[in-house]
Amino acid sequence: MIYDIIIAGGGPAGLTAALYSCRAGRKTLMICRGFPGGQIMQADIIENYPGFPDGISGMELGSLFYAQAEKYGLETVYDGVSAIEDEGAVKKVVSDSGTVYRSQAVILATGASPRRLDIPGEDRLTGKGVSYCATCDGALFKGRTVAVIGGGDTAVGEAVFLTRFAEKVYLIHRRDAFRASKILQERAFANEKVSVLWNRAPVEIIGKDRVESLLLRDTLSGEEETLLCGGVFVLAGTVPESSFVKGLVSLDEKGYIITDSRMGTSVPGIFSAGDVNKKDFRQVATAVGDGANAAHFAEIYLENLK
Ligand code: NAP
Repeated sequence: MIYDIIIAGGGPAGLTAALYSCRAGRKTLMICRGFPGGQIMQADIIENYPGFPDGISGMELGSLFYAQAEKYGLETVYDGVSAIEDEGAVKKVVSDSGTVYRSQAVILATGASPRRLDIPGEDRLTGKGVSYCATCDGALFKGRTVAVIGGGDTAVGEAVFLTRFAEKVYLIHRRDAFRASKILQERAFANEKVSVLWNRAPVEIIGKDRVESLLLRDTLSGEEETLLCGGVFVLAGTVPESSFVKGLVSLDEKGYIITDSRMGTSVPGIFSAGDVNKKDFRQVATAVGDGANAAHFAEIYLENLK
């Protein structure tokens, strides 16, 4: 069977593309790892997605996106996409489990995953005090001291979230200014449990069986210091999930997928949407917009195939 559209990834971009594609009457398959929703499933609260003046939990929003797409006939397979081959008018999509699917158009919406620091101790102590998700693991640090690495919206926002559990949160940033939005910065500065350590780079995460401390280097003086803490939250941005299309579609030097204004990639019939794309502003609202555009222009592509 050949689908009209296969969507790789089930975050806000993929689910919006699915909604539009299903409502256009297209036979649509979404292939995603884990329960649909994507990165927002780990967000405690989302306050800047329009329509929810009191905010909404990421899990609830993701579930609503999925329910809406399913209502219009979305088919879902829980698997990853490991390769795509361009066979011209038909695209071959191979999943992690080796299953082969075919469609006339593909929408890539595989998003991004947490960036690792690649410092000693990180791998060994992941799950033993090192975490990449404050919402998932924050409650494990009740009454403890934790360090948060990063200076973007995620690190600054989640540092404040972690004060619900932790006694003390050190927010560690390698420069002397955050890139996080002003409202999140103000909340962090106003929270007495949050202390900001500027100009510090993480060097090593130390601990025998669990995290015991973090070795930091002053990026100005080069001096090193040890910070005692029971947890390290690495919230230092994301890397795109695009390795499976390397060599197929054009990527930028960081691996983000390059698209035109119609969300078209360098391969006709392959579109791309959301955080995996090269773009300047990654938000749920912008991912949703990308997803709608990708499905709309995929629809026009399919019409022109006739
Ligand atoms: P981000 O904006 O890319 O920020 C990553 C942060 O980590 C930067 O401050 C960066 O430092 C730092 N960093 C990167 N590599 C590092 C390393 N090896 N060691 C130490 N620090 C390192 O990532 P994000 O905060 O996860 O946000 C991702 C996207 O999602 C953004 O577009 C953001 O606006 C969006 N987002 C929005 C919301 C919201 O609107 N409420 C919430 C979460 C995320 P430099 O600043 O020096 O580069």
